[in-house]
Amino acid sequence: MTQHVVQFSGGVGSFGAALRVAEKHGTSNMTLLIADTKIEDPDLWRFAYDTSSLLNVPLTVVADGRTPWELFRDKRFLGNDRITPCTMYLKQIPCRKWMKANAPVDDSIIYIGIEKTKRDRARIPAIARNWKPWRTQFPLCNRWEPELTKEESKARLLDEARWFGIEPPRLYELGFEHNNCGGTCVRAGQTQWKHTLDVFPERFEHAEAQEAELRTTLGNVSILRQRRKGVSYNLPLSELRRQHHASPALPL
Ligand code: SF4
Repeated sequence: MTQHVVQFSGGVGSFGAALRVAEKHGTSNMTLLIADTKIEDPDLWRFAYDTSSLLNVPLTVVADGRTPWELFRDKRFLGNDRITPCTMYLKQIPCRKWMKANAPVDDSIIYIGIEKTKRDRARIPAIARNWKPWRTQFPLCNRWEPELTKEESKARLLDEARWFGIEPPRLYELGFEHNNCGGTCVRAGQTQWKHTLDVFPERFEHAEAQEAELRTTLGNVSILRQRRKGVSYNLPLSELRRQHHASPALPL
């Protein structure tokens, strides 16, 4: 029997993918595979377990065991908005390890909740390549449906979760685009980091301290960069905090 493995990130896209897989194939050979980065918002786990109960499919949780910050220290490299070793070590490698042990290549399909927006769809070939030799499918990207804007797609998925009686992850309600790494994803840009400073000052402070510690050993590195007069500079979180307090942004 073909194994249907949903790469469940805790975001509403992966929720939508899981629903569609359950509707099409049933849940008896379904896995909800999720990687724990150890810094997720607690409400991500509430949402993940609510989804698990709805579908009657236990969560399969894998973990490297390190937080992104611990990984950056070990690798002597600070993840940033361009290069994210945390994705590979904390998510891809543990998930592939599980796949190797539990999902035969010739009889398993991995489902990813890529949304049907122009930007997200452009990521499909690279994602499919990364998962090889397993087959991948993208259940939210049906060919016969028109492309959606990010807002339309998100609203539709949030409504879908509520319709099934599941409260969406609180990070969306709090103004974050993604429900990952507790609003402190190193891939996020300046706008989100400022938002994190406003909404979760203690998480920003923790990230700021971690970055500062890495800067003492690695030199002038930073998660963010800033362009001035066509030149790109490192922008430490401490400097972003200073700029934000000097001129707070409008709410997201
Ligand atoms: S969500 Fe962001 S910080 Fe977390 S593992 Fe992925 S790239 Fe790294």
